[in-house]
Amino acid sequence: MKRVVFNEDKCKACELCVVTCPRKIIRMADRINALGFRPAEVSDQEKCTSCTLCARMCPHVVIEVFR
Ligand code: SF4
Ligand code: SF4
Repeated sequence: MKRVVFNEDKCKACELCVVTCPRKIIRMADRINALGFRPAEVSDQEKCTSCTLCARMCPHVVIEVFR
């Protein structure tokens, strides 16, 4: 089950979530989103602890965390 969902077309690639994640499972994807940025994505949902730090850090409210 997915714990973290990115509304990736709203991502502006600031990478704050990448540096914030304690599990280091967020990375920038190899594709371009609707805004012309490489969006953030989660590499391994199984390692996510649903800590919500990434969602609270994102200035563009891209990330939703489920528990
Ligand atoms: S909820 Fe926490 S562990 Fe999961 S991706 Fe976000 S920062 Fe990382
Ligand atoms: S913090 Fe938000 S806008 Fe910045 S890279 Fe992560 S998802 Fe994208």
